[in-house]
Amino acid sequence: MVSRVIPVDTFDLVIFGGTGDLARRKILPGLYRRFLAGQMPTDARIVGAARGALDDAGYRKFVGEAIEEFVSEKKRDKKKIAAFLDQLSYLTVDARGTAGWKELATKIRKDCVQAFYFSVGPGLFGDIATRLHKYKIANDTSRIVVEKPFGRDLESAHALNEVLAASFDEHQIYRIDHYLGKETVQNLMAVRFANVLFEPLWNAQYIDHVQITVSETVGVGGRGGYYDKSGAMRDMIQNHLMQLLCLTAMEPPSKFDPDAVRDEKLKVIRALDDLVPDDIVRGQYGADADGPSYLEDSENPDSRTESFIALRCHISNWRWKGTPFYLRTGKRLKARVSEIVVYFKETPHSIFDEDAGSHANVLTIRLQPDEGMDMRVTIKEPGPGGMRLVDVPLDMTFADALGPEAKDVPDAYERLIMDVIRGNQTLFMRGDEVEAAWRWTDPIIAGWQARGDKPKVYEPGSSGPEDALMLLHQDGRRWREIKS
Ligand code: NAP
Repeated sequence: MVSRVIPVDTFDLVIFGGTGDLARRKILPGLYRRFLAGQMPTDARIVGAARGALDDAGYRKFVGEAIEEFVSEKKRDKKKIAAFLDQLSYLTVDARGTAGWKELATKIRKDCVQAFYFSVGPGLFGDIATRLHKYKIANDTSRIVVEKPFGRDLESAHALNEVLAASFDEHQIYRIDHYLGKETVQNLMAVRFANVLFEPLWNAQYIDHVQITVSETVGVGGRGGYYDKSGAMRDMIQNHLMQLLCLTAMEPPSKFDPDAVRDEKLKVIRALDDLVPDDIVRGQYGADADGPSYLEDSENPDSRTESFIALRCHISNWRWKGTPFYLRTGKRLKARVSEIVVYFKETPHSIFDEDAGSHANVLTIRLQPDEGMDMRVTIKEPGPGGMRLVDVPLDMTFADALGPEAKDVPDAYERLIMDVIRGNQTLFMRGDEVEAAWRWTDPIIAGWQARGDKPKVYEPGSSGPEDALMLLHQDGRRWREIKS
């Protein structure tokens, strides 16, 4: 496979929160990898901005260390790193005050792509947007990248949309969900819409159910205080898992264009049925030899926040009526896995003996680890002994099929930042989509708060609470085992 790097126009990218954890672990190493791939123009400039008193040399040292820590050894080339760092500078800016804004206004070039990455706490998104406008730093073509969380309910998300809209048009706002930047997520669209094979079967007539799992092995650790105000529903379902559900369930857009794709995703969210309490299982991890319980991690002994959630969702439209989508996500589970699993129905009638066994096709779309797809098809077990059926994988792991270069796919952040520079919003959430997702999740959260529901305690290293297994057992189904 020959890798193609599409050049982008030159740009000035300001990273507010340029000294923070996300910038250090993801954004800056990602930009270096794009530089290395030859995608970053040599006159593009990156400006780190935060309150800390640093000079350019200090910032370059900070970024050099981040590259050392978060870029694989085979990609660390001293000369290339030095050339990349030359394109970086730093400015002390206070998002809530006056410091640095006039300097930023003179520093930023007006005749190239301008992008402003808000890699700061959500409480500062509005302050930065307002000042970019007030100090006449941004113009009609500038882009802003807004991190998660985008609100904590419909009201706050709507208020944030309004604040941003006062200074920027929707076509300038890039609400990031890094799940959408994953190679496999885009492949899901390619598989569905570039093959004649799947789409005719992609409906309730042929698909029994869909499972979407995002499981983590780590607990809430040091960010327990923040997480406790959020929980798995707000932190993961409302954004990441709902986005994956939308891409799996949406109608074919008329073209691969930002609004056409986002219109279709929005229709899915609007077609989701309200949930009843029986559709929801919430959990909190207990303690074990490897770590404290959720209650200890959150330092809130009375916490009713969930570190695990499983949901049974129905989409009321012609395509999906009767096919449930089961979503689950949690912390301190058995393995770190993100996957969408599509279970097809069994054949309506088997021409083979009962002994041959009955089988159904299963398509697994893996986001991590090892991005790829796997389709289980049924064949005859080789050899004598009559007609015995067996499932075999049609494995579509990218590296195997497309050569080693395919293993080197850009990280989600790299791809998304380059999409910002290119001005392509397809993989970013639109304001109405985010609000629709909150409109669906808010009453669910309000419901369990009103009932005073307590999450069920589950064993760390397990698949979550027993009740989550029962959620599928009641329907005669079972979860795919969580394994990496
Ligand atoms: P962080 O480590 O706490 O960094 C915050 C950054 O913002 C620092 O550079 C800080 O530097 C700067 N800052 C704070 N107050 C400021 C102000 N008044 N004016 C200007 N700069 C200010 O946070 P983070 O983990 O990088 O997260 C940043 C954003 O990304 C958050 O919205 C978070 O939810 C989101 N996010 C993070 C991750 C992750 O893995 N870390 C993942 C997904 C989403 P000074 O204190 O020197 O100003």
